[in-house]
Amino acid sequence: MAEVQEVSPGRGELEWETPLYRTALAQFEQALPHADIEDFVAERLRYPERALVVSVPVHLDSGKLGVFPAYRVQHSTVLGPSKGGVRYDMEVTLGECAALAMWMTWKCALLRLPYGGAKGGLRCSPKDLSPAELQKLTRRFTAELLPIIGPQADIPAPDMATNEQTMAWMMDTYSMQAGHAVPEIVTGKPIALGGSLFRHEATGAGVVMVIARACQRLGWRLGEQRCVVQGFGNVGGVAAGELHDQGAKVVAVSDLSGGVHDERGLDIPALRSFAEEHGSLAGYEGGERVTNEELLELPCDILALAAREDQVTGENAGRIKAKLIAEGANGPTSLEGDAILADRGIAVLPDVLTNAGGVTVSYFEWVQDLGRLFWSRAEIRAKLADQLGDAFDRVWRLADEQGISLRSAALVSGIREVAGALTSRGIYP
Ligand code: NAD
Repeated sequence: MAEVQEVSPGRGELEWETPLYRTALAQFEQALPHADIEDFVAERLRYPERALVVSVPVHLDSGKLGVFPAYRVQHSTVLGPSKGGVRYDMEVTLGECAALAMWMTWKCALLRLPYGGAKGGLRCSPKDLSPAELQKLTRRFTAELLPIIGPQADIPAPDMATNEQTMAWMMDTYSMQAGHAVPEIVTGKPIALGGSLFRHEATGAGVVMVIARACQRLGWRLGEQRCVVQGFGNVGGVAAGELHDQGAKVVAVSDLSGGVHDERGLDIPALRSFAEEHGSLAGYEGGERVTNEELLELPCDILALAAREDQVTGENAGRIKAKLIAEGANGPTSLEGDAILADRGIAVLPDVLTNAGGVTVSYFEWVQDLGRLFWSRAEIRAKLADQLGDAFDRVWRLADEQGISLRSAALVSGIREVAGALTSRGIYP
């Protein structure tokens, strides 16, 4: 391996090698000794295949021109078109997109979806933009992406601060260029445009399917667990709702405005209506207010991280009191945090498995669009439960057999799928 590394110039100093990319790469390196793949394959997979950097100009409501940096990174297209969300956030960087794209590759492969991984992002403060500005921004961003996206090339989906409406604008912009409707260009779009039933709930519901499977293996009853959920958006809000519906006691939830805590269990449906009406949890009066830092350290059985990356770190992992952590967000546990949790015997259900419900139902959406044939909600929920359950069992078994963490086992499973395909395809020319 050393020889191969030495002949690739730029190692350690490429534009995307930010801390989050280094985390993704370090996880890959930790998994590699257990993956048993060829050196040339490992070396190829250390790098994203393609990255596009654009600046998106938009006339704002004020009449001024705003120019927004934006990115799309395709980590792999070995198994099929690349797939991944688009996020709007002030902290978006090329490296963040590259890390998230690499995780998407392992996630799609672990779930045995015929996709590689991609991720996109646009640096902006979405809450400070009007709907008209967001629409112009999304349409121009989509136009800038035209050379590299397509239903057989790269298929965007929603992520942080983007939603069905964002996908509808992307689909429309792409379709206007094509001259006909192309619903299969994005997933996570409105049902009326070819969206899938159950897509909106899929990631959060999938998080709870994975938690339920883990509880079964651990001999716990989900209904008896006290849960804390960080993040109350598409993933966290739905996951909290599902946990509540399944009888678990959700004792604390939070969003950017802070957290709400009640040892007796929160009224999650009331909190969801409140957040929908007011745009956040700020001002909710049915519990004690806690900060996000305090929330992570509350005594509980299960902590679901569904906000963003880098929340459990070397700094706070020693104070986490949960017995099981479920990563609904991508990359919420840093490398140092992970090592401390492992030492303390706290199991982590890794992101590439736990939040894979979203991309799995995105795949179902794409298949339905291509076939122009649509499935029922019950069918989709059942298919998702099967596919996640199968991936969970493979990961659990591999972790057990090899004495490795669930994260390494999930990555090894994904890496092996991609490596098998890349070995057969070889390197062109
Ligand atoms: P979202 O924008 O709908 O929700 C994010 C939530 O987290 C909001 O409630 C926000 O206020 C909160 N938040 C942000 N920063 C926070 C902080 N520092 N502390 C506490 N709360 C904070 O986004 P989402 O779609 O729910 O995505 C959340 C995470 O899940 C991201 O890491 C995303 O990449 C990942 N994810 C999303 C999907 C999906 O289908 N939406 C699929 C897989 C993974």
